[in-house]
Amino acid sequence: MSVGRPLTPDEILDHGQRIVPSLGLATVYRNVKILAREGWLCEVELPGGGLRYELADRPHHHHFLCGSCDQAFDFDRCPDEIEGLAPEGFEVDRHEMTLFGRCAACA
Ligand SMILES: [Zn+2]
Ligand SMILES: [Zn+2]
Repeated sequence: MSVGRPLTPDEILDHGQRIVPSLGLATVYRNVKILAREGWLCEVELPGGGLRYELADRPHHHHFLCGSCDQAFDFDRCPDEIEGLAPEGFEVDRHEMTLFGRCAACA
């Protein structure tokens, strides 16, 4: 899972089968759920995308969802002065952001 982007169970299966060819999707589902429950993996649910998983200790970052190949990618830049988007007098504690478009390979 060191590819720097959240993976769907299907993608994890694809990576895993290169190491363990007999690996099955049911095993992947079972294990990601256990790893998420134990705090090693984080569930990433992007609008219009299925559940993905990433390592839980990743620093703050955002996701880019490619509408062409349906892969999600990490990026770590935040918009400047995001607090200024909130109404006057509101305090922002955290933010999430997803960008949609086409990745470099698909663009
Ligand atoms: Zn793409
Ligand atoms: Zn941010």
